[in-house]
Amino acid sequence: MNHKIIIAIDGYSSSGKSTLAKKISKTLKYKYIDTGAMYRGVTLLAIRKNIFNSDLWNIKNFLPFLRNLNFKFIWNKKSKEINIFLNGENIQNEIRSLKVTEKVSLIAQIPEIRNQLTIITQKEFGRKKGIVVDGRDIGNYIFPKSELKIFMKGSVDNRSYRRYQELRKKGEETSYEKVKKNIIFRDNMDTSRKISPLKKSKNSIEIDNTFISMEKQLNIIFQLISKTKPKNHIII
Ligand code: C5P
Repeated sequence: MNHKIIIAIDGYSSSGKSTLAKKISKTLKYKYIDTGAMYRGVTLLAIRKNIFNSDLWNIKNFLPFLRNLNFKFIWNKKSKEINIFLNGENIQNEIRSLKVTEKVSLIAQIPEIRNQLTIITQKEFGRKKGIVVDGRDIGNYIFPKSELKIFMKGSVDNRSYRRYQELRKKGEETSYEKVKKNIIFRDNMDTSRKISPLKKSKNSIEIDNTFISMEKQLNIIFQLISKTKPKNHIII
């Protein structure tokens, strides 16, 4: 019997999903799958292929690039974090830039792209349990049978401030207002899109972290984990 589980963490932009997911995966020695980074990787590819500048913007022009996507999540000893590689290239830093962040929710609306990334996530990373997966559609669409589903939310101001500080630390020139505008834009795009919108799934546990410390959030989640029984079922 496999005692490992799947932990699905969905929620709004900059609600602290990835920080939690990383800490949980480290403690449990689970693999961490950052699906937002995968959408960002595809967006970076689209920018590099001039898809956004082209008058010919048409998903058909981009389809050939989608067929051979290869994502890997690899531990970086130097930065002491998981890095995402797309087709052999470490894109960890570039995908966090504003130019990618501004476009990613547009890319995430496109059904062909969502289908492709869903297949990759389920087939490449979901073959074995013992994973923490964060994103927007994990509990409802990617791994609906996950043993534990968490839904993260927080006030727009809190989330914007968190994101603004992260960007400033990395040396990105930006303003708090610009970051907040982007968060509101992504919230709207992600919750209103026709295909797999961000929505709390029926059996997920909601955590509003506007006034809760990271330590308290982790306490809540590890208590939930200790009460969660592994299911003996096929993953999807
Ligand atoms: O998690 P992160 O903020 O890096 O995600 C970037 C964007 O990718 C989100 O705003 C959303 O538009 C898209 N996304 C998605 N489905 C996922 C993960 C991310 O649509 N599972």
